[in-house]
Amino acid sequence: MIDVLVAGAGPTGVMLAAELRSRGVRVLVVDRDPAPTPVVRAMGLHARSLEVLDQRGLVDRFLALGTTHPLGGYFAGIVARQPEGLDTTYPYVLGLPQTVTERLLTEHALELGVEIRRATELVGLEQDAHGVTAGLADGSTLRARYLVGCDGGRSTVRKLLGIGFPGEPSRVDTLLGEMRVTASPDTVAAINSEVRTTQLRFGVARIGDGVYRVVVPADGVAEDRAAPTFDEVKRQLIATAGTDLGAHEPRWLSRFGDATRLAERYRSGRVLLAGDAAHIHPPLGGQGLNLGIQDAVNLGWKLAAEVNGWAPAGLLDTYDVERRPVAAEVLDNTRAQMELVSLEPGPRAVRGLLTELMAFDEVNRYLIEKIIAISVRYDLGDGHPLLGRRLRDRPVLGGRLYERMRAGRGLLLDRTGALSVDGWADRVDPVVDPAVDLDVPAALLRPDGHVAWVGADQADLRVHLLRWFGAAR
Ligand SMILES: Cc1cc2nc3c(=O)[nH]c(=O)nc-3n(C[C@H](O)[C@H](O)[C@H](O)COP(=O)(O)OP(=O)(O)OC[C@H]3O[C@@H](n4cnc5c(N)ncnc54)[C@H](O)[C@@H]3O)c2cc1C
Repeated sequence: MIDVLVAGAGPTGVMLAAELRSRGVRVLVVDRDPAPTPVVRAMGLHARSLEVLDQRGLVDRFLALGTTHPLGGYFAGIVARQPEGLDTTYPYVLGLPQTVTERLLTEHALELGVEIRRATELVGLEQDAHGVTAGLADGSTLRARYLVGCDGGRSTVRKLLGIGFPGEPSRVDTLLGEMRVTASPDTVAAINSEVRTTQLRFGVARIGDGVYRVVVPADGVAEDRAAPTFDEVKRQLIATAGTDLGAHEPRWLSRFGDATRLAERYRSGRVLLAGDAAHIHPPLGGQGLNLGIQDAVNLGWKLAAEVNGWAPAGLLDTYDVERRPVAAEVLDNTRAQMELVSLEPGPRAVRGLLTELMAFDEVNRYLIEKIIAISVRYDLGDGHPLLGRRLRDRPVLGGRLYERMRAGRGLLLDRTGALSVDGWADRVDPVVDPAVDLDVPAALLRPDGHVAWVGADQADLRVHLLRWFGAAR
């Protein structure tokens, strides 16, 4: 039997599948579409995503194909300097079209032995004490111990589970596409700057080869969510910029809204939700795909622990407890950013004020750290400020911390040399380095890189090994 069936081969689904497979889980990914979409939604990866890719030995593949951009101005497009002293070795946005990100993640999953079946739509599900039976559009069924819905914002899995998706519907639609234009690059640049002084939901950017990425407000909200026609895009260009720029040869066209919604629960028995299936929000700040990758990293090791039989009681439920509040915060910061790009006088005044405040480095850094997700702290109880946070990369004896995390196990970073993970050595790697830059005697990292314990006392460490890694063996 399959251990885990993943519905959806988008970035969340393939990242999750790789996290599971690398831990020996038998995983099958099904996707409704016969081929990956050519539509480029996300344009970049943020620091925390690059960090987790580094922790899996993958980041160089992404860095090789991306371009780095400064983070100043990433909050609601407010012009600001790159904040000083960001606590990461990746203090930039890595510009990379979503299609490339998905291809690289898919290649990694396939290398690990993940099977991906396309043109395979999940349309039904039933669960019992031992597993989940998924109904497919062709009338056949698949049986797995667990199912994860990574099937996007209109998630069938979420609907079949009857999990509510409260929030706000779309109030504005935006059209998006790639096309050639006859206007010269200088003319396009001048029109782009001029229109953007009053309409921040407009943008025309050259992506190479004479092709431009066009983003333009739609007229109203389309109930059917269908892709726009090319005529509609040209009409909206004229309505917004006074010219259609001689647009022709569209490669693809798409439409997105600003609906903002969060699933009421991320788990129902043996079925879980991750990525856009669990949360949707406007693309401001470029966070959705990043959030999905980070959901996958939080869920992967926990679900693998369940399947592999060593998960302590309650471990899988911490996925919802930890990740829903993170998504709720992202939803709120995009709601705030949507207000800040409004043309109404009130929001414009707030934008002016925030622009002044962002001249203070601490304000600038605080907002940017939210977007790039390095300030995320899971609530693991009271204690040292490091508890629940991820550790930035740092040199450790014989290499770097993130290199030492590539096996996907937990890690005890120990300055004392007096602590032991005996009994858990198959799940936790000890790294002893008296000189490591760490302001506590030792830190226990979970496989997702978050700090589960700090201290120096073996008995206390043992309690936390039991809590996160199950019984000693
Ligand atoms: C214009 C725009 C710009 C964006 N820019 C950014 C950005 O810069 N940075 C960022 O981080 N995010 C950005 N996002 C958000 C990002 O695109 C999404 O958050 C991301 O694609 C979510 O990934 P996912 O894998 O969860 O879902 P999806 O990418 O939606 O993948 C879901 C998959 O499930 C499949 N599927 C659906 N139903 C079924 C079914 N019943 N059975 C089987 N398969 C099914 C679909 O075919 C699809 O392949 C942007 C979004 C938009 C619209």
